[in-house]
Amino acid sequence: MCQRFSRPSRRCGVGGYTSAVSSVIEQSPWPSHRWTAFRRALRDWYVREHRPLAWRPAPGQRGEPYAVLVSEAMLQQTQVATVEPYFDRFMKRFATVESLAAADEADVLHVWQGLGYYRRARHLHRAAKMIVDEHGGRMPSTADALIHLPGVGRYTAGAIASIAFGERTPILDGNVARVLARLFGIDASIDEPATKAALWSLAERVVAGRLAAGDLNQAMMELGARRCTPRGPKCPRCPVRGFCAAAQAGRAEQLPVRSGRRAPKAVTHRVIAVQRGRRWLFERRGDVGLWAGMWQMPTFEGGAQEPGAGRNAAEPRRFAAESFVAERFGVDLGEARAVGRFEHVTTHRRIAFVVHRAMVHGGRLRSGAGVWRTLDAADDLPMSNAQRRVVQMVAASAQVGCSIA
Ligand code: SF4
Repeated sequence: MCQRFSRPSRRCGVGGYTSAVSSVIEQSPWPSHRWTAFRRALRDWYVREHRPLAWRPAPGQRGEPYAVLVSEAMLQQTQVATVEPYFDRFMKRFATVESLAAADEADVLHVWQGLGYYRRARHLHRAAKMIVDEHGGRMPSTADALIHLPGVGRYTAGAIASIAFGERTPILDGNVARVLARLFGIDASIDEPATKAALWSLAERVVAGRLAAGDLNQAMMELGARRCTPRGPKCPRCPVRGFCAAAQAGRAEQLPVRSGRRAPKAVTHRVIAVQRGRRWLFERRGDVGLWAGMWQMPTFEGGAQEPGAGRNAAEPRRFAAESFVAERFGVDLGEARAVGRFEHVTTHRRIAFVVHRAMVHGGRLRSGAGVWRTLDAADDLPMSNAQRRVVQMVAASAQVGCSIA
């Protein structure tokens, strides 16, 4: 039999992904009584087995809007178990949208520190300001209005509107897309715009009944996180197995189909830990780009082929650390000594960190170029996990008083 949502094939006689997917959506792949039974099975499982979380309302209840906003910002690209302690810490420090709006960005980044993807923190901060300045401190209550907040896309708007305000509006994130692709046996890439549009239509059907949309949306996310996992889906324990095309065809592991993703770009970040007595030099990154606004030890960023990038590079200690530091900070360095190296991978970059240290021999720190801190006091500066690791390496090397070549 011809699989619905399948790749185009002669046997199916359809013209491409778009027609294959959208025609099924137009016809609706399930009759309404099947949707009703599906929603009930999904919701009942969620009521029985949901994980109680600090930001999550009890089934049938509505969430506190500010807590839902913060949690949704933190949960983007991050798992629940990682978010939980950060959420508690954040809510203790910024208990209300007003307190967040009034905070300095550096304080917000510092509390967010370690969670990564710092753009989310800056967006959340700006969203809080907008809620206070333009909405009198009250969160907009519809997905259409929420989507105008910084950092709030269609998914996040739908999540907040349905969970906190009960709006019957869908969500589609990686978890939900995976569940739907398997339920309906969708062979087309879920990265294709036509497939995404089809998945949004299916997500709308999920919340179209009389059951609370917030519960159903959270149930779909919970199902994706705990049963319909990317690898090793737990189909025998799945509450909607009887509805699932992929499970019935024994193809759950093969779905969803993803388009090829670009490999992370290889780059090198060369750190010069600059020491003056007991204090070290730190600089603030610019306001845009990776780790914007975070602090770091002086770092020169280059491509993978910069001089000294490889272990066998001819002059790894003379990649111009002295002139780089003199030019940017106005201080003169003694001989740089190697501290160590490590790799840090982000969504788009594979970064080789190469760390050196050097003593100041002269010059004067240029105004506004950086600050001197002891390594202990540097705890107060918001820093990426990678730069925290740099500081730890430098601290260890300073303790033993030697270099690691
Ligand atoms: Fe996912 Fe398996 Fe459940 Fe289908 S039966 S939704 S593949 S866990």
